[in-house]
Amino acid sequence: MKRIAFFCIPAHGHTNPMLPVAAQLVKRGNLVRFYSFNEFNEKIISTGAEFVSCDEFLPEINDREMEALKNSSTTEMSIQDIRITLRMNDFLEKEFKEFRPDVVYTDAVCFWGKLNAWKHNVPMVASTSTFAFNQMSTKYMKNSPGELAGMILGLPRVAKELKTLEPYGYHVKNTISLVQNDNKTDSIVYTSRRFQPYAESFSDHYKFVGPSVFSDKLPDKNNDRPLVYISLGTVISDKPDFYSKCLEAFKDMDADVIISCGRYIDIASLGAIPENIKVFNRVDQLDILSRADVFITHCGMNSTSESLYMATPMVLYPQTNEQRAVARKTSELGAGELLKDDSVKGIRKAVEDILGNSSYARAAKECSDDFRACPGTVGAAEFIENAPHSSNGIDPLEELRKADGRFRLFYWIIAIIMILTGIFLGWNFVWIIGIAAGVLSYPISSATQGIRYNNIIKKLPKAE
Ligand code: UDP
Repeated sequence: MKRIAFFCIPAHGHTNPMLPVAAQLVKRGNLVRFYSFNEFNEKIISTGAEFVSCDEFLPEINDREMEALKNSSTTEMSIQDIRITLRMNDFLEKEFKEFRPDVVYTDAVCFWGKLNAWKHNVPMVASTSTFAFNQMSTKYMKNSPGELAGMILGLPRVAKELKTLEPYGYHVKNTISLVQNDNKTDSIVYTSRRFQPYAESFSDHYKFVGPSVFSDKLPDKNNDRPLVYISLGTVISDKPDFYSKCLEAFKDMDADVIISCGRYIDIASLGAIPENIKVFNRVDQLDILSRADVFITHCGMNSTSESLYMATPMVLYPQTNEQRAVARKTSELGAGELLKDDSVKGIRKAVEDILGNSSYARAAKECSDDFRACPGTVGAAEFIENAPHSSNGIDPLEELRKADGRFRLFYWIIAIIMILTGIFLGWNFVWIIGIAAGVLSYPISSATQGIRYNNIIKKLPKAE
């Protein structure tokens, strides 16, 4: 029997995948204490874990901060996480002494879970509710110019907040080092190797357990007419204009439509609801997905995984860079189509495309079969019980780092030979070679990195 401390941020998308893992660990005789927030109380208690409320440590949030959080601003999320970590410091100091966890299982972006596991030297496993992100898989994330500007402008604010952690024994270089997945940290990822971009670049400290879905239900698509389900998740769901366009797009379609519009929307404000459409603030999403023929989704990791688990193809409408990565992988596997035009006509056309081409449903079914063959919560529980893990395998990113270093050395030797030859032969414009070599060094190294990466991957033993 192990004593296991769970930590998560107050977000459904991050908390939900940890719940079946908690239930599995409790079933296996472990003592699980889940540090979370009141809105998750019931769900956590139903897993058999102990629930510890951390609501009193949530800082007051003003309107501007709330707006930024709703828009998934990484700067604002980091700042709030740092403030919560500070406010929880004394409490967790006591808890770690009294509860004496053998393992900490913490969401990968929950700063107070990770920082306290490091500070108290407790083996830690990171729960990764999105794809695992490292220097290769981030290639899947396309930041919009607005997001990039927001991140860059936010860096000094985050750096200033990070400094406030130092006196309490939390040593952090920067936020990236806190949130990025590295090949030395034991990590559970709720997806399959097939769905994870650049899966081969992750070391054997990673366990790809498949989506954490609280349901034994099988897909059952025997509808009299198509069932269209629409949801933008729980965080960025405050989009009344989008729901109004959906009402317009589907009002005369021979289909049943269910919209889950999230907690921020007053349903009455959407006006008259057509007879074939039902709108709710929240629904039993898995139940609906098991029957749905198409899902218009914001491509949250959980919603997308649940959709594929239930063999439902998707209209992909990502709003953040992480969601764009999920959308790209889903579309590469053929299980969805990107919503490029979010006008009334565009929405209707995207749904009709999916319904009119059975290859989308077939691809979604293949993903469903792949997910259902994953190690699941039993695999996750075993991995947590046995942490920390040692790794004898090759670290592909370390190999890539060395190969990049060798390439740069070779590149500069060639450049220097050319410059010296130029000087020796008395070329007037030899300095141009020097400047060109400097300017092109980064783009050439990046452009050829894929070749080095593929060579390393070819030599790796095949993963389980
Ligand atoms: N969800 C739900 N009912 C709803 C809408 C969402 O149960 O009406 C659940 C959904 O099943 C999923 C989670 O909320 O597990 C949303 O997580 P996701 O990662 O997709 O998006 P986020 O809310 O984090 O943006």
